[in-house]
Amino acid sequence: MSQVSKKSGGRPPSDLWNTHIKKGKEISKGNYKEICNYCPYSKYKGSPQDFEEHLANNCLNVPSNIRQTYLNKVLIDLKTLKNQLKKFIKQKYLILM
Ligand SMILES: [Zn+2]
Repeated sequence: MSQVSKKSGGRPPSDLWNTHIKKGKEISKGNYKEICNYCPYSKYKGSPQDFEEHLANNCLNVPSNIRQTYLNKVLIDLKTLKNQLKKFIKQKYLILM
């Protein structure tokens, strides 16, 4: 019989936190400093994007397959951003015309 471990309640913000980020010092009640698992990089109240970017671009010790995963993710985010920007510029341009 295998036991299925079910995580009850609480949604994990991202798998980042379980695999690539560890909890550091408690800065204020319930708020912890987050530390990269691979290097001394740390952030307090950082967004998942901060760490995704760090893993993709700045982390010196992250395993390359993990870096690639987040590099792809960041690239996709950038693409979306670029498209939004394009739309925005187009709109602005039209107004100026
Ligand atoms: Zn790092």
